[in-house]
Amino acid sequence: MTAAVVCLTMALTVVVLMHHAASSEGRDRTRWQALIALCAGIGVWTTHFVAILGYRPDAGLIYDVGTTALSVLASLFFVGVPLAMGSSRRAPRVRASWGALTGVGVGGMHYTGMSALEGCIITNDPVLMAVALFSGCACFALALGLRGDRVAVGRVLLIVSGVCALHFTAMAGVSLEISSEVTGRTFDTGPLSAFVALTSLALSVSSFFALAAARSLRAKRNKASRREAQQNRLLSIAMRNMSNGLVMYGTDERIIALNDQAVTMMQLKTGRIGEGSTLTEMFQAIAEAERWSEARRDNRIRAFREYFSRTETTRFEVEIGSGQVLRVCCRPLAEGGAVLTYDDVTERRNAEAAMTEMACHDALTGLPNRRRFQDQVATMLRSGRERWVMMLDLDRFKAINETLGHHVGDMLLVSVSDRLVDAGLDGRLYRLGGDELAVLPDKEGGDSEEVAKLIVGSLAAPFTVHGHSIRISCSAGLVVAEETDNADILLQKADLALYRAKAKGRDRVERYEAGMMEKAQERRNLELDLAQATERGEFVMHYQPIYELPSKTLAGFEALARWEHPVRGRVAPADFIPLAEENGTIHHIGKWIIDETCRQAARWPEHIRIAMNVSAVQMRSPRIADDLASALARHDVCPGRLEIELTETAMVEDGCAIAASLCRLRRLGVRIAMDDFGTGYSSLAHLREFELDRIKIDRSFVAAIERDADARAVVRAVTSMAREMSITTVGEGVETREQLQRLIDLGCDAAQGFLLGRPALAAEAELVIAAHLFDNDARADAEAVSGGAVLRAVVA
Ligand code: C2E
Ligand code: CA
Ligand code: CA
Repeated sequence: MTAAVVCLTMALTVVVLMHHAASSEGRDRTRWQALIALCAGIGVWTTHFVAILGYRPDAGLIYDVGTTALSVLASLFFVGVPLAMGSSRRAPRVRASWGALTGVGVGGMHYTGMSALEGCIITNDPVLMAVALFSGCACFALALGLRGDRVAVGRVLLIVSGVCALHFTAMAGVSLEISSEVTGRTFDTGPLSAFVALTSLALSVSSFFALAAARSLRAKRNKASRREAQQNRLLSIAMRNMSNGLVMYGTDERIIALNDQAVTMMQLKTGRIGEGSTLTEMFQAIAEAERWSEARRDNRIRAFREYFSRTETTRFEVEIGSGQVLRVCCRPLAEGGAVLTYDDVTERRNAEAAMTEMACHDALTGLPNRRRFQDQVATMLRSGRERWVMMLDLDRFKAINETLGHHVGDMLLVSVSDRLVDAGLDGRLYRLGGDELAVLPDKEGGDSEEVAKLIVGSLAAPFTVHGHSIRISCSAGLVVAEETDNADILLQKADLALYRAKAKGRDRVERYEAGMMEKAQERRNLELDLAQATERGEFVMHYQPIYELPSKTLAGFEALARWEHPVRGRVAPADFIPLAEENGTIHHIGKWIIDETCRQAARWPEHIRIAMNVSAVQMRSPRIADDLASALARHDVCPGRLEIELTETAMVEDGCAIAASLCRLRRLGVRIAMDDFGTGYSSLAHLREFELDRIKIDRSFVAAIERDADARAVVRAVTSMAREMSITTVGEGVETREQLQRLIDLGCDAAQGFLLGRPALAAEAELVIAAHLFDNDARADAEAVSGGAVLRAVVA
């Protein structure tokens, strides 16, 4: 009875401990297994000895202490250890094997225990011995091999059955003969009983503690699993409600977690991919949805494996079939696998693309702008197709803007671009800014000559803008790319060709010709020098005499600027004045000329007049009148001695600003002359329009005067009309006596030219003045003249 209780306690404890061992890991499990080995070893041994003690109380059996102790160890190692090993989470078959081994161990322990009896002849029935061993092994194998959750009771019963079946069947086959040597010897069963009682107590106590520990552990586990369940719930709520798609892969490339957003974003069929699916399966599903080739799929899988193996996060964007753009962030995990998040950035990318598109288009005309043009030029240069650029500039667009208003100008630009687009330049016409447009060849190439014709044809009919009928032409510069041209050079060349078209009178196409770039570079160098020429004192004034007709008395001089360049030598005004006008240095240079001329005039007799050339650019600035007034005052020169020469073209074309300056100069008392009459409009009407003091008949007329009756007729008409209006006339560029005589005959008031005197330095001009004074017996006047060393010397 006691043995049965001990056995049952042992079995219960062991089964509880087995349960914990099976559900724990690592060192915890080892500890539980050690406890199992201890409980089972001691429990089985105790059961055996308690049963033996009660076997033949009459016989007064004597036990060998050493063998008994050995049987305890046998029980621990051959019963406890296999049972502990069989309590792992391995396959039922493996566990059953350990169970069978435990049965063998119990048998071994049993017979070792029996052999501790001294002075007994023990015979075992081999059949029953085998049956005992077999039934013990079977029960233990079954006990450990049981599978499922509710196996505790079965296991307890099987363990108890195993121990009992083995013991009692084995005992049934034992015949015990007590030898005469020990008969009558008494064996003190006290210590053995005490030992057995002690081990039973130890078993009970350890069972108690084991059960208590098991209980607290279960409570802890429950708490932990409740917490884990709670966390899992929160995590799944978070995953369901986050805006990103999320996929988490484990070490084995299997999906541990994935949310619906990821499935939707990647446009996978629901249910196709889920937890447990592999990376390969995922990409197979994506490849099917996106119709990828196998090679592409395998490439992506390889790439992802590589991302997983990195230590840092990988970020990239992918565009999927529907046009959606996903931003993928792959964060590898230290323990293996990776977390992938997917962000739908389609809207952001679309907005960015729209902004880029806007940034590449001109808001007014809707044409692609300079930025896009530059990109396209670069693309064209890389391509093998025809490569040319045509730059267009509307002629006199500025005047339209100024006279009809910017609104009309804008509408005109829109109409022009619409017409050109409709004519077939769609997609290859660009607005570079203002009224500057450009055309590139289309994808198939396209002939530049045809484009030029098409443009001319399109602009032929007038435009109607806000009730105004406007005719507009354009100038174009064409350049065909050379092998070595880059985008910048090509555009510079096109600009130069356009510049030439403008210079050649507009409404035409000019091609870039070899050498134009070099000339432009030369021009730039000249410009740089020009900017510093005034400070370096490189300008000097020359003076060309003007004589009154028919008396041939000296009336005065025309001041003509010269640039004495330290390297280039003398640079003619025709070469540097237009340049100075373009880059604005003319204001600075002009101011110096005004001052220098007034300074010179002050040194010469009062009756000597000085004519000074001013350019239209200078006249457009309101500063000109102030500069003149202050120079006249500074050098104390009477304004009436000074004559300003301005071309007819400048007077007519530059409108209001020039008219205002002319008006202010006249009020100052300065005289006004129209220069180069006959080269521009040559309109007699203009003579009435402007309040002129003098008209200078251009050299070309004077040259033609001998041979050409028409030229003579014009000169006659001009001189007689001018006389009527009290305007004096000067014939320029007189080189022959015949020309001079003709001018006298035609009634011209004055003459100037190489025949009468070349432009020369002030010192030479003073000689002329002095000689003239002798001629005219005007010695008295000379006394009054101050300054002019040469003049004084000559007079003396
Ligand atoms: P322009 O005002 O018509 O000046 C007369 C030009 O004719 C001068 O050339 C003069 O040297 C030249 N000339 C005079 N007589 C004869 C002649 O019998 N035969 C020939 N073939 N030529 C003659 P230059 O000095 O080279 O000046 C050229 C132009 O440069 C001037 O034409 C004027 O428009 C401009 N210019 C000269 N000096 C100045 C200046 O100080 N300021 C401005 N704004 N322009 C100037
Ligand atoms: Ca002149
Ligand atoms: Ca002239």
